[in-house]
Amino acid sequence: MSETQPTEEELQNMSPEELAELQKKNCVFCRIIKGEVPTHKVYEDSTMIGILDIYPSTKGHVILLPKEHAPIMPLIPPDVFKHLFSKIKYLAKGVKDALPSERSTIFIANGGVAGQQSPHFLVHVVPRNSDDGLTNFDVPKKGISQEDIFPTLKMNLTKMMQSHLQREGKIAIQTPSKDQLAEVLDQNQQLRDMIINNPDQVKAAMETNPQLKVLFNGIDIDKLSVKLKTGHSSELEQVSAEPAPTEGGEASPVDNKEEETKEESKKEEKPKQDKKEDHHSLLDKVTHMFSK
Ligand SMILES: [Zn+2]
Repeated sequence: MSETQPTEEELQNMSPEELAELQKKNCVFCRIIKGEVPTHKVYEDSTMIGILDIYPSTKGHVILLPKEHAPIMPLIPPDVFKHLFSKIKYLAKGVKDALPSERSTIFIANGGVAGQQSPHFLVHVVPRNSDDGLTNFDVPKKGISQEDIFPTLKMNLTKMMQSHLQREGKIAIQTPSKDQLAEVLDQNQQLRDMIINNPDQVKAAMETNPQLKVLFNGIDIDKLSVKLKTGHSSELEQVSAEPAPTEGGEASPVDNKEEETKEESKKEEKPKQDKKEDHHSLLDKVTHMFSK
Protein backbone atom coordinates (compact mmCIF):
# COMPACT_ATOMS: atom_id res chain seq x y z
CA MET A 1 0.00 0.00 0.00
CA SER A 2 3.04 2.20 0.16
CA GLU A 3 3.45 2.03 -3.60
CA THR A 4 1.27 3.93 -6.02
CA GLN A 5 -1.91 2.15 -6.94
CA PRO A 6 -3.00 1.66 -10.57
CA THR A 7 -5.47 4.07 -12.05
CA GLU A 8 -9.03 3.04 -12.90
CA GLU A 9 -8.06 2.75 -16.55
CA GLU A 10 -5.01 0.61 -15.76
CA LEU A 11 -7.20 -1.63 -13.62
CA GLN A 12 -9.63 -2.14 -16.47
CA ASN A 13 -6.86 -3.17 -18.82
CA MET A 14 -5.40 -5.72 -16.45
CA SER A 15 -5.60 -9.43 -17.14
CA PRO A 16 -7.18 -11.67 -14.46
CA GLU A 17 -3.65 -12.82 -13.57
CA GLU A 18 -2.43 -9.25 -13.11
CA LEU A 19 -5.47 -8.42 -10.98
CA ALA A 20 -4.87 -11.48 -8.80
CA GLU A 21 -1.24 -10.44 -8.44
CA LEU A 22 -2.27 -6.93 -7.42
CA GLN A 23 -4.76 -8.29 -4.91
CA LYS A 24 -2.02 -10.48 -3.47
CA LYS A 25 0.36 -7.53 -3.27
CA ASN A 26 -2.20 -5.50 -1.36
CA CYS A 27 -3.20 -8.35 0.93
CA VAL A 28 -2.10 -7.59 4.47
CA PHE A 29 -2.02 -11.28 5.33
CA CYS A 30 0.29 -12.05 2.42
CA ARG A 31 2.52 -9.28 3.73
CA ILE A 32 2.40 -10.85 7.19
CA ILE A 33 3.36 -14.20 5.66
CA LYS A 34 6.29 -12.55 3.84
CA GLY A 35 7.42 -10.97 7.09
CA GLU A 36 6.75 -7.41 5.91
CA VAL A 37 4.21 -6.80 8.67
CA PRO A 38 4.94 -7.83 12.25
CA THR A 39 2.74 -10.47 13.82
CA HIS A 40 2.60 -12.99 16.65
CA LYS A 41 3.14 -16.20 14.77
CA VAL A 42 2.27 -19.22 16.88
CA TYR A 43 2.53 -21.90 14.22
CA GLU A 44 4.16 -22.36 10.81
CA ASP A 45 4.74 -25.21 8.41
CA SER A 46 5.38 -25.45 4.68
CA THR A 47 1.81 -24.59 3.73
CA MET A 48 0.18 -22.51 6.44
CA ILE A 49 0.69 -20.27 9.42
CA GLY A 50 -1.21 -19.64 12.63
CA ILE A 51 -1.12 -16.14 14.15
CA LEU A 52 -2.75 -14.44 17.11
CA ASP A 53 -5.74 -12.39 16.01
CA ILE A 54 -5.07 -8.72 16.70
CA TYR A 55 -8.75 -8.25 17.59
CA PRO A 56 -9.31 -11.41 19.63
CA SER A 57 -12.76 -12.54 20.72
CA THR A 58 -11.23 -14.43 23.61
CA LYS A 59 -7.72 -14.89 24.97
CA GLY A 60 -5.84 -17.23 22.66
CA HIS A 61 -7.91 -16.47 19.55
CA VAL A 62 -5.79 -17.79 16.68
CA ILE A 63 -6.29 -17.46 12.95
CA LEU A 64 -5.00 -20.09 10.58
CA LEU A 65 -4.27 -19.20 6.99
CA PRO A 66 -2.76 -20.82 3.92
CA LYS A 67 0.51 -19.24 2.82
CA GLU A 68 -0.69 -19.17 -0.74
CA HIS A 69 -3.07 -16.29 -1.30
CA ALA A 70 -6.68 -17.39 -1.81
CA PRO A 71 -9.50 -14.92 -1.23
CA ILE A 72 -12.22 -17.54 -0.66
CA MET A 73 -12.44 -21.28 0.00
CA PRO A 74 -13.24 -22.44 -3.58
CA LEU A 75 -9.99 -20.84 -4.77
CA ILE A 76 -7.73 -22.74 -2.39
CA PRO A 77 -5.71 -25.33 -4.34
CA PRO A 78 -6.77 -28.90 -3.40
CA ASP A 79 -3.46 -29.91 -1.82
CA VAL A 80 -3.35 -26.73 0.28
CA PHE A 81 -6.96 -27.26 1.30
CA LYS A 82 -6.27 -30.83 2.40
CA HIS A 83 -3.25 -29.76 4.38
CA LEU A 84 -5.04 -26.90 6.11
CA PHE A 85 -8.13 -28.84 7.06
CA SER A 86 -6.27 -31.92 8.17
CA LYS A 87 -4.34 -29.77 10.67
CA ILE A 88 -7.20 -27.76 12.19
CA LYS A 89 -8.25 -30.51 14.58
CA TYR A 90 -4.76 -30.77 16.10
CA LEU A 91 -4.09 -27.06 16.17
CA ALA A 92 -7.42 -26.42 17.89
CA LYS A 93 -6.51 -29.04 20.47
CA GLY A 94 -3.08 -27.44 20.85
CA VAL A 95 -4.69 -24.09 21.58
CA LYS A 96 -7.17 -25.65 24.00
CA ASP A 97 -4.47 -27.51 25.94
CA ALA A 98 -2.07 -24.55 26.04
CA LEU A 99 -4.47 -22.04 27.54
CA PRO A 100 -6.19 -24.19 28.80
CA SER A 101 -9.77 -23.70 27.64
CA GLU A 102 -12.80 -25.93 27.70
CA ARG A 103 -13.60 -26.01 23.99
CA SER A 104 -13.26 -23.88 20.87
CA THR A 105 -15.39 -22.36 18.19
CA ILE A 106 -14.00 -22.97 14.71
CA PHE A 107 -15.31 -20.25 12.47
CA ILE A 108 -15.07 -19.65 8.75
CA ALA A 109 -16.69 -16.74 6.95
CA ASN A 110 -16.58 -17.77 3.31
CA GLY A 111 -17.16 -14.65 1.23
CA GLY A 112 -18.26 -11.08 1.93
CA VAL A 113 -21.98 -11.77 2.32
CA ALA A 114 -21.05 -14.49 4.82
CA GLY A 115 -19.24 -11.96 6.96
CA GLN A 116 -15.70 -12.38 5.63
CA GLN A 117 -13.78 -9.19 6.25
CA SER A 118 -10.27 -10.16 5.22
CA PRO A 119 -9.00 -10.41 1.64
CA HIS A 120 -7.27 -13.72 2.49
CA PHE A 121 -9.07 -16.93 3.47
CA LEU A 122 -8.89 -17.52 7.23
CA VAL A 123 -10.01 -20.06 9.78
CA HIS A 124 -10.65 -18.69 13.25
CA VAL A 125 -9.96 -20.84 16.28
CA VAL A 126 -11.68 -19.14 19.20
CA PRO A 127 -11.01 -20.76 22.58
CA ARG A 128 -14.22 -21.06 24.56
CA ASN A 129 -15.11 -21.33 28.21
CA SER A 130 -18.50 -21.44 29.82
CA ASP A 131 -17.89 -18.05 31.44
CA ASP A 132 -16.22 -16.32 28.46
CA GLY A 133 -19.13 -13.92 28.01
CA LEU A 134 -19.43 -14.57 24.27
CA THR A 135 -22.87 -15.23 22.91
CA ASN A 136 -22.80 -18.45 21.00
CA PHE A 137 -22.64 -18.16 17.25
CA ASP A 138 -26.36 -18.40 16.96
CA VAL A 139 -27.95 -19.70 13.80
CA PRO A 140 -31.43 -18.20 13.89
CA LYS A 141 -34.33 -20.64 13.54
CA LYS A 142 -36.71 -19.40 10.89
CA GLY A 143 -39.90 -20.98 9.65
CA ILE A 144 -38.73 -21.43 6.08
CA SER A 145 -40.04 -24.46 4.18
CA GLN A 146 -37.28 -26.65 2.75
CA GLU A 147 -39.57 -29.04 0.88
CA ASP A 148 -39.05 -27.48 -2.54
CA ILE A 149 -35.26 -27.40 -2.36
CA PHE A 150 -34.86 -30.87 -0.81
CA PRO A 151 -34.80 -33.03 -4.00
CA THR A 152 -32.50 -30.66 -5.88
CA LEU A 153 -30.06 -30.33 -3.01
CA LYS A 154 -30.01 -34.04 -2.33
CA MET A 155 -29.36 -34.86 -5.96
CA ASN A 156 -26.76 -32.15 -6.48
CA LEU A 157 -24.75 -33.00 -3.37
CA THR A 158 -24.70 -36.69 -4.22
CA LYS A 159 -23.77 -35.97 -7.82
CA MET A 160 -21.10 -33.47 -6.81
CA MET A 161 -19.47 -35.89 -4.40
CA GLN A 162 -19.64 -38.83 -6.78
CA SER A 163 -18.01 -36.94 -9.61
CA HIS A 164 -15.45 -35.43 -7.23
CA LEU A 165 -14.52 -38.81 -5.75
CA GLN A 166 -14.39 -40.41 -9.16
CA ARG A 167 -12.08 -37.69 -10.42
CA GLU A 168 -9.86 -38.36 -7.45
CA GLY A 169 -10.03 -42.11 -8.10
CA LYS A 170 -11.41 -42.65 -4.60
CA ILE A 171 -14.45 -44.69 -5.54
CA ALA A 172 -14.95 -47.40 -8.07
CA ILE A 173 -16.89 -46.31 -11.08
CA GLN A 174 -20.44 -47.61 -10.93
CA THR A 175 -21.65 -48.65 -14.32
CA PRO A 176 -25.39 -48.34 -14.89
CA SER A 177 -27.14 -51.62 -15.69
CA LYS A 178 -28.03 -52.30 -19.30
CA ASP A 179 -31.70 -51.69 -18.51
CA GLN A 180 -30.85 -48.33 -17.02
CA LEU A 181 -28.70 -47.37 -19.97
CA ALA A 182 -31.46 -48.42 -22.36
CA GLU A 183 -33.89 -46.25 -20.51
CA VAL A 184 -31.51 -43.30 -20.61
CA LEU A 185 -31.10 -43.66 -24.36
CA ASP A 186 -34.83 -44.05 -24.89
CA GLN A 187 -35.44 -40.79 -23.10
CA ASN A 188 -32.47 -38.76 -24.23
CA GLN A 189 -32.93 -38.22 -27.93
CA GLN A 190 -29.98 -35.88 -28.29
CA LEU A 191 -27.55 -38.38 -26.89
CA ARG A 192 -29.13 -41.14 -28.93
CA ASP A 193 -28.75 -39.14 -32.15
CA MET A 194 -25.14 -38.41 -31.33
CA ILE A 195 -24.39 -42.09 -30.90
CA ILE A 196 -26.20 -42.98 -34.12
CA ASN A 197 -24.74 -40.22 -36.28
CA ASN A 198 -21.36 -39.62 -34.74
CA PRO A 199 -20.07 -42.51 -32.64
CA ASP A 200 -16.49 -41.23 -32.94
CA GLN A 201 -17.52 -37.97 -31.32
CA VAL A 202 -19.07 -39.90 -28.44
CA LYS A 203 -15.87 -41.91 -28.03
CA ALA A 204 -13.80 -38.73 -28.03
CA ALA A 205 -16.14 -37.14 -25.49
CA MET A 206 -15.79 -40.18 -23.25
CA GLU A 207 -12.07 -39.49 -22.99
CA THR A 208 -12.62 -36.11 -21.41
CA ASN A 209 -15.98 -36.55 -19.69
CA PRO A 210 -15.79 -38.96 -16.75
CA GLN A 211 -19.58 -39.17 -16.51
CA LEU A 212 -19.94 -40.29 -20.11
CA LYS A 213 -17.17 -42.75 -19.48
CA VAL A 214 -19.08 -44.21 -16.56
CA LEU A 215 -22.32 -44.34 -18.48
CA PHE A 216 -20.79 -46.27 -21.36
CA ASN A 217 -18.25 -48.28 -19.44
CA GLY A 218 -17.99 -51.68 -21.10
CA ILE A 219 -20.13 -50.70 -24.07
CA ASP A 220 -18.89 -50.95 -27.63
CA ILE A 221 -20.03 -47.58 -29.00
CA ASP A 222 -19.73 -48.61 -32.67
CA LYS A 223 -21.91 -51.63 -32.11
CA LEU A 224 -24.31 -49.58 -30.07
CA SER A 225 -24.50 -47.06 -32.90
CA VAL A 226 -25.41 -49.77 -35.40
CA LYS A 227 -27.89 -51.25 -32.97
CA LEU A 228 -29.65 -47.95 -32.36
CA LYS A 229 -29.91 -47.28 -36.08
CA THR A 230 -31.78 -50.51 -36.61
CA GLY A 231 -33.46 -51.38 -33.38
CA HIS A 232 -34.44 -50.57 -29.88
CA SER A 233 -32.00 -49.65 -27.16
CA SER A 234 -33.49 -52.36 -24.96
CA GLU A 235 -31.24 -54.69 -26.91
CA LEU A 236 -28.26 -53.17 -25.22
CA GLU A 237 -27.12 -56.36 -23.60
CA GLN A 238 -26.14 -57.41 -27.09
CA VAL A 239 -23.53 -54.66 -27.37
CA SER A 240 -21.79 -55.24 -24.12
CA ALA A 241 -18.05 -55.49 -24.41
CA GLU A 242 -18.03 -57.43 -21.16
CA PRO A 243 -19.45 -60.78 -20.08
CA ALA A 244 -23.06 -60.36 -18.98
CA PRO A 245 -25.84 -62.79 -18.19
CA THR A 246 -28.13 -63.47 -21.13
CA GLU A 247 -31.50 -65.03 -21.39
CA GLY A 248 -31.59 -68.60 -22.62
CA GLY A 249 -27.86 -68.86 -22.16
CA GLU A 250 -27.16 -69.52 -25.78
CA ALA A 251 -25.17 -66.43 -26.69
CA SER A 252 -21.78 -65.56 -25.30
CA PRO A 253 -21.51 -61.77 -25.20
CA VAL A 254 -17.75 -62.04 -24.79
CA ASP A 255 -17.50 -62.97 -28.41
CA ASN A 256 -18.71 -59.78 -29.98
CA LYS A 257 -18.46 -60.86 -33.58
CA GLU A 258 -20.55 -63.95 -33.07
CA GLU A 259 -23.00 -61.91 -31.10
CA GLU A 260 -23.35 -59.39 -33.85
CA THR A 261 -24.11 -61.91 -36.53
CA LYS A 262 -26.65 -63.60 -34.31
CA GLU A 263 -28.21 -60.24 -33.77
CA GLU A 264 -28.54 -59.55 -37.49
CA SER A 265 -30.44 -62.74 -37.98
CA LYS A 266 -33.08 -62.33 -35.34
CA LYS A 267 -35.21 -59.27 -35.85
CA GLU A 268 -38.14 -59.74 -33.53
CA GLU A 269 -36.63 -58.91 -30.17
CA LYS A 270 -39.00 -58.38 -27.29
CA PRO A 271 -38.68 -54.83 -26.03
CA LYS A 272 -38.16 -54.50 -22.31
CA GLN A 273 -40.70 -51.90 -21.32
CA ASP A 274 -41.61 -53.30 -17.93
CA LYS A 275 -39.16 -51.29 -15.86
CA LYS A 276 -39.90 -47.94 -17.42
CA GLU A 277 -41.44 -46.38 -14.29
CA ASP A 278 -38.49 -47.29 -12.07
CA HIS A 279 -35.94 -45.43 -14.11
CA HIS A 280 -37.26 -41.93 -13.81
CA SER A 281 -34.98 -40.96 -10.96
CA LEU A 282 -31.98 -42.35 -12.76
CA LEU A 283 -33.02 -40.54 -15.86
CA ASP A 284 -33.26 -37.30 -13.96
CA LYS A 285 -29.72 -37.79 -12.75
CA VAL A 286 -28.36 -38.57 -16.16
CA THR A 287 -30.25 -35.74 -17.78
CA HIS A 288 -28.55 -33.47 -15.30
CA MET A 289 -25.23 -35.00 -16.18
CA PHE A 290 -25.67 -34.00 -19.77
CA SER A 291 -27.05 -30.58 -19.13
CA LYS A 292 -24.07 -29.70 -16.97
ZN1 LIG B 1 -3.20 -12.89 0.89
